[in-house]
Parts: sequence; C-alpha cells; structure tokens
Amino acid sequence: MTSAFDPTSLRVKAFAQANASLEGSVPVKHFERLYADCVGEVSTPVQWAAQGATQKKAGASDEIWLHLHAQAQAPLICQRCLKPVLVELLVDRDFRFVPDEATAMAEDDEAEEDLLVLSSEFDLLALVEDELLMDLPLVPMHEACESEHVPTSGDLDTSGVAEKPNPFAVLAALKTKKGD
Ligand SMILES: [Zn+2]
Repeated sequence: MTSAFDPTSLRVKAFAQANASLEGSVPVKHFERLYADCVGEVSTPVQWAAQGATQKKAGASDEIWLHLHAQAQAPLICQRCLKPVLVELLVDRDFRFVPDEATAMAEDDEAEEDLLVLSSEFDLLALVEDELLMDLPLVPMHEACESEHVPTSGDLDTSGVAEKPNPFAVLAALKTKKGD
C-alpha cells in the first residue's frame, strides 16, 4: 500500500486529520548536516516514523498533532580517547502545529510539546534531521574507553609507551658518556 503522503512535502493538516502514519529508512548520507558530523562511513540507516493525530479543543478548531520517532547511529570522535565512538541517537517527541509564528511564540512557554507553524507543505525529513542533530552529544565519549586493551597502530595509541626508552633517560645517558 502506498501512502498518499509525501514526507518531504507533507500536508500536515490532512495527515493529522486522517490519523495517518508514515515511516521510512534513509541513509545517513541523505542528511547532509548530520553526515557532516560523522567520521567515516555510516552503514546503519536512519529509521523514522511519524503519526498524525487531531485533538478536539473547545471553541476552536481541532489541534493538529504529530508524533515523531527516529533513531540513528552516528560515528563520532570520543573526546577522552580520541577514537571513534558509535553514538545512538533517539528522538521521541510530540509536536503541535499552530497557525502562525505569533501563536507559537505566545504558547511556547506553557506547552510541553514542541510547537511548529503549520504550512501546507512540511518537510518531515528536515524535522527528523533537526531533531537528530539536537540529540547529538556535546561531548561524545565512550562509556568506558578501550585504549588499554585494543592496541592499534597510530599516534594516539599509548599502550606501547612503557616499552620505549624514556627520551630523557637516553639523553642523560649520552650526557654521562660525554662527560667521561
Ligand atoms: Zn573513548
């Protein structure tokens, strides 16, 4: 069954009124801003799902709601050991669409949900990317860095340091010899 709704130009109001849902799987490369933050290739695609809903409101037209779920894996650089760390991103949020920016501003403080301005063609995938970007950790880190038991070749590896002669010791030895 093909959906009547296009996630890149979603008719949000109709989507909500139909209690429709959409889901998809998109390669991370498609999300340029997210991809730019990743180091190396990302094999796991972004999985997302959206559910529309309306809610009756006394004396006003029905509220337009959208629930968004998305998950992704982003390879980032651990800020402790400077090696890649695969970070799980998870988005699970409710959005309510309001008629205009003024309403959004006025109601934003009280609303627990996120408010978005209703447009006739809404880019759902851009929202998915925005939300994933917001879920990126400011300081990505392994829960426990593995540098001690995963020796790799590279400048950042410190496991072999103890076996190398201390350069100052070598220097001291040279000096001693000279002084003889
Ligand atoms: Zn680490």
